[in-house]
Amino acid sequence: MKTASAAAGQSSKAAPPHQVGGSAIAKNSWVLLARIVIVAGLDDLLFVPFFLAEHSVTQAAMNLFSAGLYAVIHRLLKHRRNRLAVALIWAEVFGHATIGTLLSGWNSGYFFYLLMFVPTIAISMPRRRAIILIAWLWAYFIALMILAATLHPLAPIGHAALVFLQAYNATVLIGMVTYFTLMYRRLAIAAEQKLQRLATTDPLTGLLNRRSTIEMAARSIAAAERGSADLSFILVDIDHFKLINDRFGHKAGDGILTTVAAELSELIRGEDILARWGGEEFLVVLPDTPIEGAAELATRFQERLTAFKPQIGDIHVSISLTMGISTLAPGESFDAAVARADQALYRGKDQGRNRIILDTGNTGSPQDKVTAA
Ligand code: GH3
Ligand code: MG
Ligand code: MG
Repeated sequence: MKTASAAAGQSSKAAPPHQVGGSAIAKNSWVLLARIVIVAGLDDLLFVPFFLAEHSVTQAAMNLFSAGLYAVIHRLLKHRRNRLAVALIWAEVFGHATIGTLLSGWNSGYFFYLLMFVPTIAISMPRRRAIILIAWLWAYFIALMILAATLHPLAPIGHAALVFLQAYNATVLIGMVTYFTLMYRRLAIAAEQKLQRLATTDPLTGLLNRRSTIEMAARSIAAAERGSADLSFILVDIDHFKLINDRFGHKAGDGILTTVAAELSELIRGEDILARWGGEEFLVVLPDTPIEGAAELATRFQERLTAFKPQIGDIHVSISLTMGISTLAPGESFDAAVARADQALYRGKDQGRNRIILDTGNTGSPQDKVTAA
């Protein structure tokens, strides 16, 4: 009997590092394959008495040979001779399917194992090579089918045994296809989620990146326009961050950025968006929040960050923030509202940093309000 070995062998081999999910496949696949090889070998061994009872010594001998081959393959896998092991698995499955068909006839269902190569090849090889190989497989399959229809089985077994064999082989094939398809699906979903995460978040802080924030803010803007609820923005910039990098190194700076992000995210609500807007700049989008509410939150940010003195070596670093706040005006774009928060932020920098500046108008000269210094 054959088992899942051909497919597993190929999917393990099918883990070129350039493919998404490839590393996930590669990580555990050799261990998995070694286990499958044991099952395949035992399976072959168990069918030895079956064929002996059917007076098919040739098939019993072939199964014994296959079981021995799987033992060799298992040793090869243990010694990391993976390529040779996979090649031998392919040869065993192909040879066993062919010889089994010729000995017991088409109705033995050995041809099912050849079908397993189709998804295996399609998943694991470059497109062109896969199509060529599957075309060859098709030709081989049809030739074997015609040959089996023309020739009498070389070592026929009884009818009941034949039906059992066919049902068994069909069951193994369906089980294998299900198992590997589900495994592949799981890997594909995991890879897609990983890509999604990489595309929408900032790798250092784990916060939303600029692009996904703009997409999400568009939804909040539409809701704000529909419900006339206020949508406010706080642009947060760490003061003199360059000095932190210069003094403690970029890596320490990275650590501080990450912890500042974590501190800020503790203070926001579930519906708020906290994004890494630039190097040491964060944007907070606050749906259903008037400018006063945004100012209160900014004050809490400031209090938290003033109290929070991250330790680098023996030194406790003091961090201060300058923040610019705006609220979306009717008909105003996201960019324009954030630009007003940005201008407010820069006025805060000009006025000496460590402060919160509210921009309360979107036309003419803005009315600033310094709430902290
Ligand atoms: P200001 O008070 O005017 O904002 O001064 P600043 O030094 O914070 O601002 P500036 O724009 O002069 O410098 C920002 C610094 O932030 C410089 C840049 O190297 C650093 N930075 C940006 N992104 C990262 C990052 O991902 N990691 C680290 N460690 N530093 C970063
Ligand atoms: Mg700064
Ligand atoms: Mg900055």
